[in-house]
Amino acid sequence: MSAPDCIFCKIISGAVPCHRVLETADILAFLDIGPLAPGHTLVVPKQHFDSILDVPPDMLATITRPFPMLAKAIMHASDATGLNVLQNTGASSGQAVFHLHFHFIPRRAGDGLGYRWNAGKYGSGQAESVHAKIVSALSAAR
Ligand code: AMP
Ligand code: ZN
Repeated sequence: MSAPDCIFCKIISGAVPCHRVLETADILAFLDIGPLAPGHTLVVPKQHFDSILDVPPDMLATITRPFPMLAKAIMHASDATGLNVLQNTGASSGQAVFHLHFHFIPRRAGDGLGYRWNAGKYGSGQAESVHAKIVSALSAAR
């Protein structure tokens, strides 16, 4: 199923060009048009899902199966020593294209891209509270 106004569905159908690096029956990998580093690649399911929130688990397993092979090929081709695999879900996370995709961003020490989480600390009782909520949501989901 494709979505009419989705840029990645248009790439998958061939209506919009891209640099294809891997294609299987279920997924397409192609170069990001705005690379954070040369070799920055996007991996998408051919079927349209807005995000990881609505992809069936079996399809997610299919999408991720070629990840090790892709990671090695992208790193090799980019002469990279590291790789960030990134998946944005929702506008507040930075998702701009609402067709599920994974970024593969080749990294090298001193590449200037930087990477820093503003890591916080739990206040008194916060970890226990959020832990209980996640465990409860998981048991409701099963
Ligand atoms: P995100 O912010 O996670 O939704 O990332 C969307 C990514 O899609 C960005 O890195 C864009 O550069 C990339 N992108 C948007 N349009 C195209 C396109 N036509 N071909 C390749 N990459 C694209
Ligand atoms: Zn789409």
